[in-house]
Amino acid sequence: MAVAGVRAWRWGRYRVLVEGAGGLEVEEVPVYRSSGGPLMKVLLSSACMMDCRYCPFSRYCRVPRERWPPGKLARAFTAAWQMGLVGGLFLSSGLYGDPERVAGDMVEEARRVRELGFRGYIALRLMPGTPKWLVREALGVADRVGVNLEAPSPSGLAEIAPSKGSWSLDLLGPLLYAAREARDPRRVSTQLVLGAAGETDEEHVTLAARLLGEGVGVIYYSPYTPVPGTPLARRRPPTPAWRARLLSEAVALMRDYGYDPRWILDALDDRGMLPRPRSPGETLKDVIARLHPEWYPVDPSTAGWSELVRVPGIGPKAASRILRAREAARGARLDAAVKAILGPARYRRARRYLHTTH
Ligand code: SF4
Repeated sequence: MAVAGVRAWRWGRYRVLVEGAGGLEVEEVPVYRSSGGPLMKVLLSSACMMDCRYCPFSRYCRVPRERWPPGKLARAFTAAWQMGLVGGLFLSSGLYGDPERVAGDMVEEARRVRELGFRGYIALRLMPGTPKWLVREALGVADRVGVNLEAPSPSGLAEIAPSKGSWSLDLLGPLLYAAREARDPRRVSTQLVLGAAGETDEEHVTLAARLLGEGVGVIYYSPYTPVPGTPLARRRPPTPAWRARLLSEAVALMRDYGYDPRWILDALDDRGMLPRPRSPGETLKDVIARLHPEWYPVDPSTAGWSELVRVPGIGPKAASRILRAREAARGARLDAAVKAILGPARYRRARRYLHTTH
């Protein structure tokens, strides 16, 4: 591999020089700034024979199609990684052939990345209907493996992505198989196009509770955005970002805070939707706290972890720190320790829910 130079092209995209069939060639590396650091987030191919009605790469849309030749994506990624531009790879693809072939090509490209020396984060988003043996191969080379469910039910999928096959057999089946094989929920992910099928939050919360229970630990909600020229564009309004934020919070409350799914379902309105936040800072946890005045005040000197994490402003780590702090402090000294653990802003939020000695 040769790397002759790099320069910023525009925010989130860089150009690197890599060896191709005709000598050194310029390649673009799309960079996504994730919370875990910069990722190269890319499709192996934008050619696709599916008809997902929200997607600009569906077979009905006239857009330029590109495909990375075998090995070239791995070389471009490695060049960007060696220059410190990216710290991980997220690889997906349009369905340019049968699912086994496409998923196999993705796994092969991830293997090349490993062979070029990269030991960091690789995520593979596999195809509908990926066979079990390839799911296992993917788990052998990638840190995280997923299959997009797109919609929370078979009828929702039939409406927005009819050619993707059976929701239960082709999407949920490989996803749950990956979860069983991985035995670590953090290694298995899925994504849903939020609002594209006109579905309710009740459907999403119910599905998320099931997925978390079966070992799928990472669930992304991508708010539906109409793309001109796609069949859904005139039929569905865009989904507001706050809806995705509420559902992501619902997942975190069930997964990390031990919330019973029923507490979240109790917050739904008559239409089966979570309430729109009253202010930019209001969280789903605030809403649930309002519905359960009987939970408060929580006494930090006697409460268990699961009671502490129900206090707005107290997260799982802070709850554990408070439990440790009270082994050494009581009364006003414990109040001071709680204040120090939470910091001024979170303490102000939590205080009305806490029983304090002053
Ligand atoms: S399979 Fe993926 S790339 Fe193809 S149309 Fe559907 S969402 Fe778009």
